[in-house]
Amino acid sequence: MLDVALLGCGGMMPLPNRFLTSLCMRFSGRMLLIDSGEGTQVSMKLLGWGFKNIEAICFTHFHADHISGLPGLLLTIGNSCRSEPLKLVGPPGLERVVQGLLVIAPELPIEIQIIELQHKKGQTIDLCGMSVSAYPTTHRGKCRGYSSSLSRPGKFDHERGKALNIPVRCWNRLQKGESIEYENNLYTPDMVMGERRKGLKVSYCTDSRPPSGLDAFVEDSDLFICEGIYGENDKLDKAIEHRHMIFSEAAAVAASGRVRELWLTHFSPALTQPEIFRANATDIFPNTLIGRDRMTKTLTFDDYS
Ligand SMILES: [Zn+2]
Ligand SMILES: [Zn+2]
Repeated sequence: MLDVALLGCGGMMPLPNRFLTSLCMRFSGRMLLIDSGEGTQVSMKLLGWGFKNIEAICFTHFHADHISGLPGLLLTIGNSCRSEPLKLVGPPGLERVVQGLLVIAPELPIEIQIIELQHKKGQTIDLCGMSVSAYPTTHRGKCRGYSSSLSRPGKFDHERGKALNIPVRCWNRLQKGESIEYENNLYTPDMVMGERRKGLKVSYCTDSRPPSGLDAFVEDSDLFICEGIYGENDKLDKAIEHRHMIFSEAAAVAASGRVRELWLTHFSPALTQPEIFRANATDIFPNTLIGRDRMTKTLTFDDYS
């Protein structure tokens, strides 16, 4: 079970009831944020999921609307009795940006671990029990989109386990994907595990022109959260100039990537009623929702058997 909450869906400037960009994912009580624009900690407080279990924050890039909420958030996490380290992940240059922001958030009681994503063609790291992949996107400066995946092993075949005389005490570790040597016999997961089942995937891309290959990167996502800075199709030139995406472009990526559901986010402050332009996206990808602050969804595996 994976909970997703859009903490802020504004771009550039916060509005009343629309904080700046941030997303929260919660798996087994562990929380991963992507971006922390102005207002993130207020939205977190309203959401009520707490701060102590935030284990990592990934950044798409370093424009203020994506990172200016970090110093206050760090102080709040520091006051939450968290004792474990906090990981900050982002494009090259993250260390310098964070060190600058730490000047106004000094003497934190938690260890900050900084991970700069160096590989140009994407990189995968384990965060909060999920496999998180980064993808280079096309904006001003270095920018990344992220996909978070939860894999799901196949079913354990008890009958095969019995037929092969595999000791019951080994079953649990085999189920976890471990190979075991026991009483001079080697037991491997493939002896008793069925075919891998569909897991869960959430993808997030904001502040980018549609980069080539983004549809493949987000392919089969259960939820794709993508920027739509403008709703109007005739604002495409402006979006190209500022290296952003409009609703119809985000919908085209969602359709091409065969995702299940699309949430639009990162609205221009001039776009005060994004719902008016929803059809520009749904004409291309029908299952599109207009994001709003603290919109949440719980994703579950397709079958529990
Ligand atoms: Zn932005
Ligand atoms: Zn930006």
